[in-house]
Amino acid sequence: ASVYYLTVRLSPLPRERVLLAATDRTEKVRLENTRRDFMQNVSHELKTPVGALALLAETVHDSAEDPEAVRKFSSRMTREAKRLGRLVTEIIELSRLESPDALGVGEVVNVDEVVEEAVDRVRVTAEGARVELVAGGETGTQVYGDTSLLMTAVRNLLDNAIRYSNPLSRVNLGVSADSEVVRIAVVDEGIGVSPDQKERIFERFYRVDDARSRETGGTGLGLSIVKHIAADHGGTVTLWSEPGRGSTFTLVLPRAFPAGRYPTSNEKEP
Ligand code: ADP
Repeated sequence: ASVYYLTVRLSPLPRERVLLAATDRTEKVRLENTRRDFMQNVSHELKTPVGALALLAETVHDSAEDPEAVRKFSSRMTREAKRLGRLVTEIIELSRLESPDALGVGEVVNVDEVVEEAVDRVRVTAEGARVELVAGGETGTQVYGDTSLLMTAVRNLLDNAIRYSNPLSRVNLGVSADSEVVRIAVVDEGIGVSPDQKERIFERFYRVDDARSRETGGTGLGLSIVKHIAADHGGTVTLWSEPGRGSTFTLVLPRAFPAGRYPTSNEKEP
């Protein structure tokens, strides 16, 4: 605060310019703080799996005479290594998304293609978790943007829905649209999110239950990536949830129409 005071007192600039300079500085300081916090979080998050891997390697080395122990600890090593790989990929992805020109002009994207690919990528996870995965709704809709980023967003929502569900429950993906937007809703019957956590879970590295997130290979970055991708496409991601009964995450994106084709009055009336 003393720095701003000095700037204001000593500056020969007109009052508005001084105020603008001070606001600019505040924004700069805020960004620097965010960046520093992020770097601190990143190094903490990376140290955990690296430490675990070192310890597990030592344990495997000391268990050379016991094949059962070697099998057990080396499979835990594989799990930690996979999570570490995912963490690094997502950190890079997030920092790319945070640069101001993350998304270029964009192209017309077929929502069906995005949904099919995302569902394909999580099918094995769903089978492993014994969760039934169903996709349906309106077909043939389009949005502007980046197919692969949108696929990442939908895949992250599906992946979470499966990981925070109980076996034998169902995850449903539904597409709906009106003349303005396309909605991609991922509905689960899982553990849900309490009202006081609803905003926080979109923050980087925030998890409600750290152990459950880690056990299932979580990184705490999935939802912040989804939020960035939605914003970069001029859209939003919303959450409805009832703890213990399930959650619905909805990606809402501005609708695109093929050149020369405008919404009919039918499409305008939802
Ligand atoms: P993580 O890798 O931990 O899943 P995310 O950023 O994807 O990280 O999600 C942040 C937190 O939000 C999770 O740790 C979990 O507590 C909560 N969460 C996300 N999706 C769901 C869901 N479908 N149902 C219940 N909780 C969820």
